[in-house]
Amino acid sequence: MTKFLSMSTFLFDKTVFGPVRSRRLGVSLGINLLPNNRKLCSFDCIYCECGLNGELGDKTSQMPTRQQVKEALKQKLEDMLNENLKPDVITFAGNGEPTLHPDFAGVIDDTIEIRNAHCPEARIAVLSNASRLYKPEVVSALLKVDDNIQKLDSGLKETILRLDQPNYPFDLDQTINQLKAFKGKVIIQTMFVEGEIDGVTIDNTTQKDIDSWIQALQKIRPSKVMIYTIERDTPYSNLKKVSLPLLNQIADQAKQQGFEVSVSG
Ligand code: SF4
Repeated sequence: MTKFLSMSTFLFDKTVFGPVRSRRLGVSLGINLLPNNRKLCSFDCIYCECGLNGELGDKTSQMPTRQQVKEALKQKLEDMLNENLKPDVITFAGNGEPTLHPDFAGVIDDTIEIRNAHCPEARIAVLSNASRLYKPEVVSALLKVDDNIQKLDSGLKETILRLDQPNYPFDLDQTINQLKAFKGKVIIQTMFVEGEIDGVTIDNTTQKDIDSWIQALQKIRPSKVMIYTIERDTPYSNLKKVSLPLLNQIADQAKQQGFEVSVSG
């Protein structure tokens, strides 16, 4: 993994990386479907550990092909098995939004096949920002994975625009309906953060945010909710971690409505 010094955010320089121990997912082998050393995302979250779009890295770097992903994953798993290592989970994350890959559905099919052959007990997880759920092939691929983890950082559109900076006309009602269409085969992941950028207060822990977030969860009915806060450096240095007691208090509010919630502080 290459660490770029600018603002201490970092980019992955490989298609298959790890294994890394993730606080949320266990021993995780990562797959980066985005270019190596370049962030590419339909959001530009102010807390993104990869920095901001276009800010760092090698601007000429391209996405790997489906075949390259397949070969890299096979090779990595064979190397791990030779060392008696097995991943708990194969996680699609990396330098941006994995569903932007033009062959995302094909890559998922290959990954399921390779997982079944090499480490059938490993889960396959996708970390996504829900921006491509208008594409039927993306939805059907996400329905095939074990952990379909989708971002929803607030139930208020203005908060999401401020926090996640989507680079397309973001429609919150449509996103909620698309998440609801998974019929529970979805995990919602929410990042809580506080701070101030250019004189504007950033805070998705206000009661108004939490109430509308819970209302959105009630429509979506996810199997699980994961909440967390910033852990590493972010593109903006004046963002703050949300305290564990506050995260637990937010989790309790969702739990009272019947949701299973995990907290990573
Ligand atoms: S969705 Fe993920 S990769 Fe994209 S900007 Fe936000 S945190 Fe970064």
